[in-house]
Amino acid sequence: MDCINIVDLEVYAKHGVLSAENQLGQKFLISASLYTDTTKAGLMDNLDYSINYAEVCKYISDYMTSHTFKLIEAVAENLVNELLLSYPLIRMITLEIKKPWAPIGLPLKTVSVKITRGWHTTYIALGSNMGDKENYLNDAITKINSDSMCMVDKASDFITTKPYGYKEQDDFLNAVIKVETLYSPMMLLDFLQKIEQEAQRVRHIHWGPRTLDLDILLYDDLIIDEDTLIVPHPDMTNRAFVLTPLNQIAPHQVHPVYGKSIHELLLNLSSQN
Ligand code: ATP
Ligand code: CA
Ligand code: CA
Repeated sequence: MDCINIVDLEVYAKHGVLSAENQLGQKFLISASLYTDTTKAGLMDNLDYSINYAEVCKYISDYMTSHTFKLIEAVAENLVNELLLSYPLIRMITLEIKKPWAPIGLPLKTVSVKITRGWHTTYIALGSNMGDKENYLNDAITKINSDSMCMVDKASDFITTKPYGYKEQDDFLNAVIKVETLYSPMMLLDFLQKIEQEAQRVRHIHWGPRTLDLDILLYDDLIIDEDTLIVPHPDMTNRAFVLTPLNQIAPHQVHPVYGKSIHELLLNLSSQN
């Protein structure tokens, strides 16, 4: 991806663990790599299609001086988040904050924190088979989209499907959405589980009736194998109620484990049944 670089912007601000740092302040040097697509701006020679680095420098300087954090880790995390939300053309940022005057009683050139954060593309499966199913799905999509860290980019049709696993229950309403998010995979799982709880989800039987189920199918092309989170969702390739709506919005998306497109995976599944 293309990149606009800001190197060692000087800001005098009051971040630090020591009260002297909060009162007197000190010098900080900020470097930022703003990842974006500059093709259109380059071809048209027009700043409207790019990121105005003068404006970003002013934004960083104002943010640094109007907030006080103990840790430069916190300055970096919050500042990057605000920049990503304020400048939609920035896909990813690497931000480094240096403290050349870090008061540690020993000579050093600088101490710094450097983080990379950005937007990620994720696909989420929604399912409901209790109460007003359509309302549960619509509500969940609205909640996800109204969170500042998420943008719902595409939504499949809602499809009615027969129960999977435990058969003695009502039909399901299923859908898949494409979401751009600033959440890490774990934070996204927490966020989705909160929405499930708000839908009064109570469930005793595995794969049994539920008001709302939100599963992370894909997150960029990451492969995650943690106790509480497996991505891609391990059973997605066996489920027509997942692959059918996913195929509607992302047929060419490649499954990072099987190396096949969603369209191919759906054809494979259909030919098995
Ligand atoms: P399945 O995951 O087979 O569709 P389920 O959705 O009925 O079953 P839940 O009871 O909703 O299962 O979830 C059980 C646990 O699965 C969650 O607490 C969560 O920690 C874990 N989990 C693992 N991978 C994922 C994922 N990709 N998306 C959502 N939850 C996941
Ligand atoms: Ca599920
Ligand atoms: Ca689930």
